[in-house]
Amino acid sequence: MKNKVTILIIASIATLIALSAIQGYLIENAYQLKKKSFIQETDDAISDIDNHPELDSIVDVIGEDLRTNLGDYKNNRISKAEVIRKLRIKGDSVNQSYMERYTKELNAINLGYKIRYKRQLTSIIVYNGQEYDTIFPSAKKQSLTILGENFEDENSHVVKSARTFTEFDFITQERDSVFTTTLDVELKTKDVILIMDWKSIVFRRMASLLIISVLLLLFVVGLLYYSIKNLINQKKITEIKTDFINNITHELKTPLATLSVASKSLKNTEIRNSTEAFDNTLNIVDRQNTRLQKLIDQVLTNSLSAKDIILSKDAVVDNDYFNDLIADFKLSTQQRELSIINKVCPEEVLLRIDTFHFTTALLNILENAVKYGNDQTEITIETSLKSNEYYITISDNGQGIAAQDQSQIFDKFYRVSHGNVHDVKGLGLGLYYTSQIVNAHQGKITVQSELKEGTTFIITIPIN
Ligand code: ADP
Repeated sequence: MKNKVTILIIASIATLIALSAIQGYLIENAYQLKKKSFIQETDDAISDIDNHPELDSIVDVIGEDLRTNLGDYKNNRISKAEVIRKLRIKGDSVNQSYMERYTKELNAINLGYKIRYKRQLTSIIVYNGQEYDTIFPSAKKQSLTILGENFEDENSHVVKSARTFTEFDFITQERDSVFTTTLDVELKTKDVILIMDWKSIVFRRMASLLIISVLLLLFVVGLLYYSIKNLINQKKITEIKTDFINNITHELKTPLATLSVASKSLKNTEIRNSTEAFDNTLNIVDRQNTRLQKLIDQVLTNSLSAKDIILSKDAVVDNDYFNDLIADFKLSTQQRELSIINKVCPEEVLLRIDTFHFTTALLNILENAVKYGNDQTEITIETSLKSNEYYITISDNGQGIAAQDQSQIFDKFYRVSHGNVHDVKGLGLGLYYTSQIVNAHQGKITVQSELKEGTTFIITIPIN
């Protein structure tokens, strides 16, 4: 049974982990899709901005300047690096008006979030028939920002890549003659944008999906936890019931066996003829009968909970009450080596208790001290009055109760197990009954114990 429960728990947890992993994978996929569609949506929205005639004319100014510089380069007046430097300077000079216009157009489409934009040059190649001359990129730099804002490439993406061919006339002068050669220039550019806060925008768009997933997962975890807890409880109840049946069978067997022997004895003429033997046997029958009655009463009384118990309270003086209780208990126990130290508080306190139930409750504790005590049992009963609380402390020097059992000894049918050995008789109902009676008196009961040292029960009841 225990193995089955463990396997079930492991299988459930493994399934839960697998389900969570699949859920995580699906969410990651959904996230990628949302991100893609969000980026696409942004790209579509801004695709027409740079076709604006005003922006085009600014770009044309840069192109014109570049062609002049390329002519100078071909005439060996300037180097490739100088062409790029001049291109950058030209870009810088027109950038402000370009960006003002760009921002105006961007505001007009009202995206609802901020973006940063840059246009980068990726290559300039000059063709002369079959020959070509790469002006850019140089070995050092792969791209150069000519227009827009300067930002890191991380998290940005290319909205548009463009490749344009333009012809330009290149004039050379040799001695008195002037030659005009037409060259082709190929320009490659890319438009890059960075969407600010794109992560939080995508997450916001996925919020309902994320919330539902988390709630579902929590629900499944809760359901699993509840089912496993129920299963363990059921298992515990089954064990407790089996224990109880074993205990009660054991408890009933002894008086029944004694009764059977006694009834056989009563048939014996020798016993019948001796008045003493006859009375003795009848006393045994009587005692066993009382014991059986007590057992049945114990089971019946314990089927009631604290709120079902109807108390009939009397006013008793604590000293008298405890003195009588101790005297009666001493008489009823057969253990010879028993000493009871009476430390009942000297001042007289009037207690309002149901004497029958309360006495039975205290007797259960005292009987346990003897049952689970050693050969020389010493019990101390101490009482005190602190503000409106009356404290009854009953300590013994017995075998003690392990820490893990202490919280359970007040549970119905709970008995501390010593393997499978039940050397001490009991049904596990005594302390349950005691706690129910203390609760019915609006009181509290706690236990402090150390194995092999002893046990102390502390009962507090309110004094009005
Ligand atoms: P029962 O005595 O019938 O088993 P109880 O409800 O009276 O049932 O006690 C529950 C368990 O608590 C007992 O089985 C015993 O192991 C433990 N116990 C109770 N009182 C003491 C004590 N004074 N010393 C050691 N163990 C105790």
